[in-house]
Amino acid sequence: MSAGVSTQRRRREMAAAAAAATSGAGRCRLSKIGAGRRPPPARVRVAVRLRPFVDGTAGASDPPCVRGMDSCSLEIANWRNHQETLKYQFDAFYGERSTQQDIYAGSVQPILRHLLEGQNASVLAYGPTGAGKTHTMLGSPEQPGVIPRALMDLLQLTREEGAEGRPWALSVTMSYLEIYQEKVLDLLDSTLGDLVIREDCRGNILIPGLTQKPITSFADFERHFLPASRNRTVGATRLNQRSSRSHAVLLVKVDQRERLAPFRQREGKLYLIDLAGSEDNRRTGNKGLRLKESGAINASLFVLGKVVDALNQGLPRVPYRDSKLTRLLQDSLGGSAHSILIANIAPERHFYLDTVSALNFAARTKEVINRPFTNESLQPHVLGPVKLSQKELLGPPEAKRARGPEEEEIGSLEPMAASASASQKLSPLQKLSSMDPAMLERLLSLDRLLASQGSQGAPLLSTPKRERMVLMKTVEEKDLEIERLKMKQKELEAKVLAQKAEDSKEKENHCPTILRPLLHRTVTVAKPLKKAVVMPLQLIQEQAASPNAEIHILKNKGRKRKLESLDAPEPEEKAEDCWELQISPELLAHGRQKILDLLNEGSARDLRSLQRIGPKKAQLIVGWRELHGPFSQVEDLERVEGITGKQMESFLKANILGLAAGQRCGPS
Ligand code: ADP
Ligand code: MG
Repeated sequence: MSAGVSTQRRRREMAAAAAAATSGAGRCRLSKIGAGRRPPPARVRVAVRLRPFVDGTAGASDPPCVRGMDSCSLEIANWRNHQETLKYQFDAFYGERSTQQDIYAGSVQPILRHLLEGQNASVLAYGPTGAGKTHTMLGSPEQPGVIPRALMDLLQLTREEGAEGRPWALSVTMSYLEIYQEKVLDLLDSTLGDLVIREDCRGNILIPGLTQKPITSFADFERHFLPASRNRTVGATRLNQRSSRSHAVLLVKVDQRERLAPFRQREGKLYLIDLAGSEDNRRTGNKGLRLKESGAINASLFVLGKVVDALNQGLPRVPYRDSKLTRLLQDSLGGSAHSILIANIAPERHFYLDTVSALNFAARTKEVINRPFTNESLQPHVLGPVKLSQKELLGPPEAKRARGPEEEEIGSLEPMAASASASQKLSPLQKLSSMDPAMLERLLSLDRLLASQGSQGAPLLSTPKRERMVLMKTVEEKDLEIERLKMKQKELEAKVLAQKAEDSKEKENHCPTILRPLLHRTVTVAKPLKKAVVMPLQLIQEQAASPNAEIHILKNKGRKRKLESLDAPEPEEKAEDCWELQISPELLAHGRQKILDLLNEGSARDLRSLQRIGPKKAQLIVGWRELHGPFSQVEDLERVEGITGKQMESFLKANILGLAAGQRCGPS
């Protein structure tokens, strides 16, 4: 049996991956990619590593159940039919004799260069407990694994690329965390509790509050990493004396700042992940805490499998949020990273079932397509924080000489600048440095507008012409990118709405008990309503104003509940049993739209009519809107600085869902 998909599909993906592999060759090319077109795809690469027999588990009396065929494929006995073997093909196969250097040089080293292009990369070690994941990632002092090797190379690369005289200044930071029993714990600062995982507007996953240590040498790295590794939760199981009880994630960020205009900055993230192993508790002999840990490990790996399946089937909803592990990996699987999965397997017969399931997972993962892009933006306070000499600000002498007469002439048209010395030219620039970049962008576009209308007045910004032109170009590029993202957002929203409508239709077909609007229904005490429609707050107000409206609302009042019809004179009251709420998807969508309109068009005062929005938050929302443009969905509120994810959720509940959807509302 072949464990792959059709050869045609594979060829298509290989071509896409090859295109992606070549795409990172040069900076110019990447900048273009970042400027608007859809990033090229890069398939998740998968390598399988078979470890040798360990601890004197002799191979002769217990022959291996799996064997390599060539550098990419292997076969394993078929437990259903002993005459047959199952064959698998991957991007690379490393047999028992392969060394740590083979794995590193063959599968990991090639993706590191993407970090210097401002793209993300991740390496994940997957496999059953005891199959060699930690050995592959960490290794030992005699046989260092992927982590120390990658760090050594990366630091060397950044030293070379960021040296004086090169166009970019580079810095590297590291963070180290573990996901233990669905908690995100900072291994560099064990005093911090469970950390939250967030997503920024570009789809990057981040963990606010996670410790980041700057590192400039390998000694620096070791100084932080070694003690932190001892903080990692390990325990003994029957299969492994030091079994990792958590998923360990080392995050290395490479930050680049351009030394000359247009002063871009880029950030590349490298995730090096040693996953906890999937466990069959009958074999591990787990009890008590070990069993509980194992449950959390298996659950998150199960969600990982579901995420991979959803991505492969192109499902509209990928369940990243169902576990912390998958949420963290969101931009590595089906996201923006160049990813490699190293599936570790063991030769012993008692690992047979785990091995087959690891190989099947690996085979499914290699169908996942990522779309890595360059994380590039302008440096905040464009010209200020980088301590540059005036010579650097004016550009190298060669660049000055290379400037055509046209540009020199444009420069000479500026009345002030013409006679001013270089330092006088720069003084307005230095003032600009203290300006908010968004404000700067606005002034620039205003300046442009005035120019296009033939205004003869002094320019709004006394910025020297050359710098200003470069800035304008960057602003234009950004505008294009924003337009593109907005279009994409609209497409996605349309898809989600269509999907919701379809789901609700289906639900109606399957559950005839769901209530339609309660037009002619009367409520009696003897026969309480089982389900009621919860209206968005805004809608409730509107419905109340409309004479024909007849909507039932479930209200919570102490230990009693009132069911009232808006056009009924007196609400009926009754001791409560257990009621269930049913929210009409149309109403929900309508309510959302109303709130979105209010967020986008309402004044600070209007916004205060929303639940949970006081004067301060209303101002924050208006400010955010001015800087970033309209909200494309209600959840964007979370991006407003000062509004936390929790607050956003409670805002949603209060304004849209009313009483929490689907929750039972029996007496507490
Ligand atoms: P896991 O992290 O998957 O639970 P480990 O990396 O802890 O497994 O490996 C279990 C044992 O096997 C360790 O003693 C480790 O040193 C050994 N081991 C794993 N892979 C190899 C290998 N390729 N060569 C030699 N020993 C290995
Ligand atoms: Mg381990």
